[in-house]
Amino acid sequence: MATIVWFRKDLRIEDHPALTEAVSIGEPIIPLYIHEPEEEGEWSIGGASRVWLHHSLTSLQERIRSIGGELVFQRGSSEQCLLDLVRSTGAKRVFWSRCYEPALIKRDAGIKSALQEAGVEAVSSNGSLLREPWEMKTKTGGPYQVYTPFWRALSKEFSPRKILSAPKALPAPSKSVRGVPLEALGLLPKIRWDQELIGYWKTGDVAALSQLNRILSPKIGDYKDQRDLPAVDGTSKLSPHLHFGEISPTQIWNLVSEFAEKRGGLSVGAEHFLKEVVWREFGYHLIFHFPTTPLEPLRTKYAKFPWRENPEHLRAWQRGQTGYPIVDAGMRQLYATGWMHNRVRMVVASFLVKHLLLPWQEGAKWFWDTLVDADLASNTLGWQWAAGCGADAAPYFRIFNPVTQGEKFDSKGEYVRRWVPELKRVPAEFIHQPWAAPSMLLLEAGVTLGENYPRPIVDHKEAREAALDALATLKGV
Ligand code: FAD
Repeated sequence: MATIVWFRKDLRIEDHPALTEAVSIGEPIIPLYIHEPEEEGEWSIGGASRVWLHHSLTSLQERIRSIGGELVFQRGSSEQCLLDLVRSTGAKRVFWSRCYEPALIKRDAGIKSALQEAGVEAVSSNGSLLREPWEMKTKTGGPYQVYTPFWRALSKEFSPRKILSAPKALPAPSKSVRGVPLEALGLLPKIRWDQELIGYWKTGDVAALSQLNRILSPKIGDYKDQRDLPAVDGTSKLSPHLHFGEISPTQIWNLVSEFAEKRGGLSVGAEHFLKEVVWREFGYHLIFHFPTTPLEPLRTKYAKFPWRENPEHLRAWQRGQTGYPIVDAGMRQLYATGWMHNRVRMVVASFLVKHLLLPWQEGAKWFWDTLVDADLASNTLGWQWAAGCGADAAPYFRIFNPVTQGEKFDSKGEYVRRWVPELKRVPAEFIHQPWAAPSMLLLEAGVTLGENYPRPIVDHKEAREAALDALATLKGV
């Protein structure tokens, strides 16, 4: 008899409760990955994430082989694949780590019943959150909608379980199990645009841990001050690793605490880093309790917001051609690398929903396709925050000025120069508003507005007024 471990968004072998439990039974293990993007409904995996997934599965296969196992890839309905596999191998148990996306919760519940009907035990466990969303309740018994009390409740006297070691060996079944080659999952694009993007990254659980170790250095002491500066490499870049479960938040919490203990306690920077990791938990808490929010505002009155339709503006935003350098730099960083700095995510999202009055769902969908860390919980949280319609969101009337945001967080213009090379020679004084520079200076810098760099597609002051007018239509709703 064999035991199946169904890998999903938990592509690692260390600190993997489902794998550890399965191995403890002592039967041969069949590690399985099934690709059926349709099962995620409207949020089937986007282009950049598919590329990451391909490489992450390659890394996982290597890790599993190194302990004697073989990861089996299959395509098609997850339920059917599992039922066929239990029939052909005689497996009596299937283990997996829970997913919290609404469509996947529904799918998994169906699969659990189908397996149980077939006489197979289905065991799910928590492999990707510090606390289960249903464990966290406000004093009145409801879900949290404000971050700070959520953080306090989660972190108060919190000690996560110990990190689970990777199994030393995975006993393989005597007969090999039929699957398809990884390439047959078709994750890589036919036109190979992916090579530059993946060149920015190292995937897999070993890479994730070394990425964490990079920040577990004196660097973490500066995290709170540096994390807002997009030109500085001041954040962990763990988001895609966390999304694909190449590292768990339990590993992060334990390793940060251990690091801090050796240095006399949590520094302000280290604590702030853990707080960010808990923003991710907050996102999962919200999506679990408010499952319609990936497409509908949590604050329902925003469903009546008078959004515009303007494909030209949407395209200019997507391509980094808005004429606002900090916005364009962010959108180009996203397109090239599959990742964007958090401060800039906030600025570009605000620009879309407030300056262009385009629906936040359009932004969420673009991010979904282009981010390597596209994560339904965090993306929904981020977009609803920017649009002022989510839990603990930025009020809609607070409108970021893209020029002053640029001047404040990229004061020397290094980030803009990196991603908008047309403006490379514009001095810092004008880099965030090249239209305000004397024409001689622009000429010397090789910039001709409207030709090799766009003029602003909207005027900040007018856009701000239009946004406030739009907001006013919700009064009394
Ligand atoms: P660090 O600063 O090193 O933080 C460590 C970890 O904490 C991150 O890896 C991430 O898992 C978590 N975290 C940090 N900030 C946030 C946050 N604001 N919300 C939730 N989790 C957070 N993050 C995603 O992982 N996937 C998304 O699809 C996503 N979409 C976003 C959309 C918008 C409009 C906005 C404003 C933010 C979005 N974020 C998303 C959150 C955040 O921008 C990224 O998690 C962060 O930039 C990742 O970089 P890092 O790993 O270096 O973060």
